[in-house]
Amino acid sequence: MNYALLDRGDRLSRELSKKFQTLASARGFTVNEKSPDIVLSIGGDGTLLQAFHRFKEQIEEVAFIGIHTGHLGFYADWKKDELSELLDLMVTSQPGRVQYPLLHIDITTRTGTSEYLALNEFTLKSVDGTLVAALHINDEPFEMFRGDGIVISTPSGSTGYNKSLGGAVIHPFLEALQIAEIASINNRVYRTLGSSVILPKHHHCDIIPDPEEELFIGIDHLVMQMSDVQSITCRVSEKKVTFARYRPFPFWNRVREAFIGSGNH
Ligand code: NAP
Repeated sequence: MNYALLDRGDRLSRELSKKFQTLASARGFTVNEKSPDIVLSIGGDGTLLQAFHRFKEQIEEVAFIGIHTGHLGFYADWKKDELSELLDLMVTSQPGRVQYPLLHIDITTRTGTSEYLALNEFTLKSVDGTLVAALHINDEPFEMFRGDGIVISTPSGSTGYNKSLGGAVIHPFLEALQIAEIASINNRVYRTLGSSVILPKHHHCDIIPDPEEELFIGIDHLVMQMSDVQSITCRVSEKKVTFARYRPFPFWNRVREAFIGSGNH
């Protein structure tokens, strides 16, 4: 099996990465950074986000596995003391292939349109503080937003930034995107729904900011500063991310363990 490995860069992740490589080569696995079948991340969910962005051009050819150095994560659902168990399963069994929806983002400026893909979410904020932007859903004006920002998340990203904003947790088998507000200001001129909105596949939303506004644009953990943005379109991507599943770990169990605690029921 060909694999690529990315670690968070801290001491523990680097040590685990070396250990994994030793155990994997003893089992006949080959490191292949260019066209791997499996991409492993060692660190946390944030490390899997980095791995996703490193291999997003090959997203239809690779399957991801995440190993967490601390608690169990949402993407990183193997623990640091389970390396041998994971490798043995990789030798002896065929994994299930679980696919999650992604968010497609088109950002149009005067010079053209750039495409982006997010595993967790797209975030829009103004560099100067208050963001003012029109939000359209399926080409119809929906609301005029004024506030700290807008977060549009995937179902698997719904447990990230979206959840801190009071958005709903969505099972990743639902092909949807969720629009959540960051501290909207509501008065007679600017009125927003106030709750998060969930759009199905084949719907889209456009955000039309003031082109003079300097914006912070976040695609998962990556942040860029852009000016002259004419419009931003978000929809559920045609592409999906694939995770190699060697054992079941239901999404709702992950939600319970992360936010409620397994003993709390
Ligand atoms: P970070 O600020 O270092 O860590 C953000 C935290 O979010 C980490 O604990 C990370 O888990 C966790 N996380 C990442 N994806 C998640 C998911 N799908 N469900 C639940 N938790 C998740 O940033 P980072 O590690 O580079 O991750 C970037 C992500 O941080 C963004 O995509 C966004 O979702 C999230 N974020 C959250 C807030 C907020 O809640 N106020 C603000 C900004 C960004 P690990 O510890 O396992 O890596």
